[in-house]
Amino acid sequence: MSKRKMLSAIGKESNVKKNNKHWSLGLIESMNDPKHIYKETDRVVVIKDKYPKAKIHYLMLPRDNIESIHKLNKKHISILKEFGSILQDIIEENKDVTLKAGFHAVPSMQRLHMHIISTDMVSPCLRTKIHWNSFTTDFFIPYEDVLRKIEQNGHIEVMSTDLHKSLLATKLKCNKCSYVPRNMPQLRKHLAKHVQYGVLNTLWNFT
Ligand code: AMP
Ligand code: ZN
Repeated sequence: MSKRKMLSAIGKESNVKKNNKHWSLGLIESMNDPKHIYKETDRVVVIKDKYPKAKIHYLMLPRDNIESIHKLNKKHISILKEFGSILQDIIEENKDVTLKAGFHAVPSMQRLHMHIISTDMVSPCLRTKIHWNSFTTDFFIPYEDVLRKIEQNGHIEVMSTDLHKSLLATKLKCNKCSYVPRNMPQLRKHLAKHVQYGVLNTLWNFT
């Protein structure tokens, strides 16, 4: 699969250019549209992901035009710390679910954005293996790792195309138990059972 196809499969749901604007600018449009906004401060906006891959899926963006994780440097430590503080508020407000926060190693959409996503991964928009692996493998770089790397090294290294491709091609495996589905429909059915059976889900291997 070409790099462009792979990127599209993660973030872009349609090839159509809307209002003549390139699809990769969609987050910048959404962060300026009150109906998409969940929370905002002077420097940061949190929007609802338009194609959520779990029951809760937000994107946190800076108002400053930082293009991606690869443009981060030590000057951005303060905005990253503000990300962390808003993240804590969001975790407090959603105590009934487990949330994780991080960045895709190779993002498809413009403007730095941190995913805040519940670990159920139950959503009609979660359709492809690439969607799954982009949140459950090392393709997903946790917030704490990004902050640490920027504090220590002042930059995030670009992931090699070989590693990027192999991570997104990783064999499917449940993120809550050892179940290995044959395909996405099987995995989706299985994930729904984890939600249905709630607290018992870590003890059982549903098939
Ligand atoms: P990434 O692969 O990290 O660039 O992810 C981009 C995210 O943006 C995906 O989770 C998409 O579902 C989401 N997305 C795509 N277009 C929009 C939009 N116009 N508004 C809000 N979220 C979007
Ligand atoms: Zn499972």
